[in-house]
Amino acid sequence: MNPVIFHPSPEALIKEEIQSLDFSQLLVLTDQNTLRDCYPLIEKSLPKHSVFTISPGEEFKTLKTCSEIWEKMTELALDRKALILNLGGGVLGDMGGFCASIYKRGIRFINMPTTLLSQVDASVGGKLGVDFQGFKNHLGVFNEPEVVLISSKFLRTLPKQELRSGFAEVIKHGLIQDRAYFDSLNFQNWDQNDWTSLISHSVEIKKQVVQEDPKELGLRKILNFGHTLGHALETFYLNGPKHLLHGEAIAAGMICEAWLSAEKTGLAKKELFEIAEKLIQVYGKIEIESSEWEAILELCLQDKKNEGKTILFSLLQSIGSCTYNIPVSRGEMTQALTYYT
Ligand code: NAD
Ligand code: ZN
Repeated sequence: MNPVIFHPSPEALIKEEIQSLDFSQLLVLTDQNTLRDCYPLIEKSLPKHSVFTISPGEEFKTLKTCSEIWEKMTELALDRKALILNLGGGVLGDMGGFCASIYKRGIRFINMPTTLLSQVDASVGGKLGVDFQGFKNHLGVFNEPEVVLISSKFLRTLPKQELRSGFAEVIKHGLIQDRAYFDSLNFQNWDQNDWTSLISHSVEIKKQVVQEDPKELGLRKILNFGHTLGHALETFYLNGPKHLLHGEAIAAGMICEAWLSAEKTGLAKKELFEIAEKLIQVYGKIEIESSEWEAILELCLQDKKNEGKTILFSLLQSIGSCTYNIPVSRGEMTQALTYYT
């Protein structure tokens, strides 16, 4: 697995980790926001390089944008000793890594994640790719960056709503693996958490799980807690006025799936209430109309983690312990949505 290196100063990370590498050319990928807010923090310490900037947002996580990146790589005549530095959130990291992995059958890349979500989640585990025909991460590969460089300094310019979105993955890590970690989180004043220490702890949890099961044949599925219904909600509201950030959708998904956990795997009711209360404290509640339920459940069926027509969930046995491959019926899923609403 790729090394993950933490340092408060992004400049120091670049100096120590990039300058020592042997490469022919360096291409830095940014989006318009990270070009404005993050690139200035590393520009001076970078060796000779080119920059290519894409439009920000999930709607640009497409083959069309990849095509533009590949055109730039070709125009710069990058050879197989070239290096790509992905400076941005999960969208840029997933897509930049994918482009590097395909170009000339694969060139090396480094991830410098700049959102909380990408630092605690997307930066570890080697999943790369783009969305296709409305399906999230439909095209992609598993491949590892040379190294992941994490500095919490980037979070200073991150919009608060994006920070809160990333916090959902931190909460998930506590729920699936580490009760003490969950208990240590500040839900009341969520924006006052000590991000530096949370990032390294969350990365540690994700690394351990991924190391044991890199290709998601078993244990890694626990990382999908909250994501079956969460992804469906995210996709359902994607292009409308109720558009949700990933973490906001996952927070709602975790409440629904905690309810399923209480039904199917014996999560104590007391723990279910605690989870729901804490998540609502941070994220409030999404209004899901009952007329929308059918379409949302239909989207769950299309989740690429399913085997055949059965929807398999990762569910909690208690706070800090999660099990996977639990089949759940449509009726039970409807009840979970009823509980949430
Ligand atoms: P994102 O990359 O879209 O970034 C969110 C927004 O913040 C963008 O507008 C971006 O320009 C801006 N931004 C980024 N860093 C900033 C900074 N430091 N200051 C100011 N603005 C900044 O979204 P995200 O939440 O980081 O990532 C979501 C994506 O990650 C999804 O596509 C999801 O599929 C993917 N993901 C991948 C994995 C994985 O294992 N590979 C895991 C989780 C999520
Ligand atoms: Zn997630």
